[in-house]
Amino acid sequence: MTKLLPTSSAGSLPKPSWLAEPEKLWSPWKLEGEDLVSGKQDALRVVLQEQQAAGIDIVSDGEQTRQHFVTTFIEGLEGVDFEKRETVKIRDRYDASVPTVTGPVSRPNSVFVEDAKFYRSQTDKPIKWALPGPMTMVDTLYDDHYKSRKDLAWEFAKLLNEEAKELEAVGIDIIQFDEPAFNVFFEEVNDWGIDCLERAIEGLTKCETAVHICYGYGIKANNDWKETLGSEWRQYEEVFPRIQKSNIDMVSLECQNSRVPIELIELIRGKKVFVGAIDVASDKVETPEEVAATIREALKYVDADKLYPCTNCGMAPLPRDLSRGKLSALVAGAEIVRKELLAAEAAAA
Ligand SMILES: [Zn+2]
Repeated sequence: MTKLLPTSSAGSLPKPSWLAEPEKLWSPWKLEGEDLVSGKQDALRVVLQEQQAAGIDIVSDGEQTRQHFVTTFIEGLEGVDFEKRETVKIRDRYDASVPTVTGPVSRPNSVFVEDAKFYRSQTDKPIKWALPGPMTMVDTLYDDHYKSRKDLAWEFAKLLNEEAKELEAVGIDIIQFDEPAFNVFFEEVNDWGIDCLERAIEGLTKCETAVHICYGYGIKANNDWKETLGSEWRQYEEVFPRIQKSNIDMVSLECQNSRVPIELIELIRGKKVFVGAIDVASDKVETPEEVAATIREALKYVDADKLYPCTNCGMAPLPRDLSRGKLSALVAGAEIVRKELLAAEAAAA
């Protein structure tokens, strides 16, 4: 992008109430069949309009066509039995009843490519599309076949790569892999997690690639977990050195209201950084000045032409007006700092 400080959201945005029950994760669809297909397209039109109205530069699909950021992709695969469920601890944090891997995994058809093609036809703006990361996928399942997190993640990485190449082919500009699990399983991240991610982006040449690592949606299990993390959240320190050496182009992080020491961003110097300047766990809309302050802090560790103001995480569970308010605050905050940078540049010239 030629524009300084281009804004975007981390991924999910609230769905219209006629499509799915609002302010809820995993909310079931209210439509079915053909109505659901056209309902999802209408929802894509709505989130596009909302992002454009707010002035967002890099738009996302807001995950309007999926119920959940991990599961919906897995539903499109073979080898996973959704009827056979086991209870596992997700991200070492909360128990969930999850589907079982019962045989070799494969991707008989594209999962999101038709949605992406439709979205591409609606706008000329750069589009960011999220896929789940291999490690986070593994962490959301019970594996009764590979019996190895590493082997299963590698297989998923190959399937994600097929999907990513098709998303690239229909004109998606940035493909982001959501890896909240990277904030929990440090040893595995360094051992095989980033290798799998690099397998997932192999051969992508036209689009840019990103990894999103966060402290999760603002739901109770995550908020309780954050309470146990102490006064300084140094999780990023464990995985950034290896990410810095990886082929991933961009890293999406949580910064606003978080206890992450912002200087840790120095460890990924050279990467483009989506700086989370909007707290998705708070029902208060940030002031533009608060957003600007976070961006200014991050600018000490990220070159201005590599800084992308963003939200900490997805906003799916938030009320729609709150989400819209936060997008506008992000844009206004970025504009304050953009003006400062341009004024400094003009003064130096
Ligand atoms: Zn997130």
